[in-house]
Amino acid sequence: MAGSIELYRRLYDLFLAPVSRYDCGRKCAPLNEGIPVCCDTGHAIPLVDKHEWQLLKSRTDLWRLYRARDADAKKELADKHRDCRAVECKGFRHCERDNRSIACRAFPFFPYFPRNKGVAGLSVFWSFEDRCWVQSNLQIVEPEFVKECIAAFELLFEHDKAERDANYEFSGTIRRAFTRMNRIIPLIGRNGEFLAVEPGTHRIRTASWREYRRHETFRDEKPAAPARR
Ligand code: SF4
Ligand code: SF4
Repeated sequence: MAGSIELYRRLYDLFLAPVSRYDCGRKCAPLNEGIPVCCDTGHAIPLVDKHEWQLLKSRTDLWRLYRARDADAKKELADKHRDCRAVECKGFRHCERDNRSIACRAFPFFPYFPRNKGVAGLSVFWSFEDRCWVQSNLQIVEPEFVKECIAAFELLFEHDKAERDANYEFSGTIRRAFTRMNRIIPLIGRNGEFLAVEPGTHRIRTASWREYRRHETFRDEKPAAPARR
């Protein structure tokens, strides 16, 4: 069975925990003319499932369909799945916590699949690492967030194989990219523990958060205090 409005209602009720106790938008916005990077369609165009879009429309007027304004945006959306809708909200000053999309709630994380296995934890959309403060401070991630995020995605995957396949394939993409860069993949385990996927072998091992790379944008800052574990 594919997704449904009811499924997304359940997902929204299940996945409410914030990534951390920090207001991370205040950390990256100064680098982006005062707008949190992941709330700016110039950096990330939100995509929602068609059922999620129906649910959002029934709950709020926060969102509208996104119209690509330039060639880059058109290119970015060219190969989106036919069941996806590109949307945009009224802006971060009007954010409604309970009406954020699943993508908003999860950013900058996605469920990581080792080859031929189920979800091992959460890893990051690393193409944002130069602008996303969270990715240079993964020690702040709350275990409760990880649990809720994974529970929501696993429920979604039970109903939507295409969504599971997309995340499975993206896990392969990050493995190839990080092997090329000879970097460990940062991985927050299902209980919030710090893990690393080794380049080349793709073996998962315990890690210290201090091993995770801090991007040069944020490297001179003192690391934020870790979440309690
Ligand atoms: S998740 Fe990253 S990009 Fe989004 S507001 Fe927080 S620091 Fe900024
Ligand atoms: S709904 Fe909130 S979190 Fe999502 S893009 Fe808009 S301002 Fe950002």
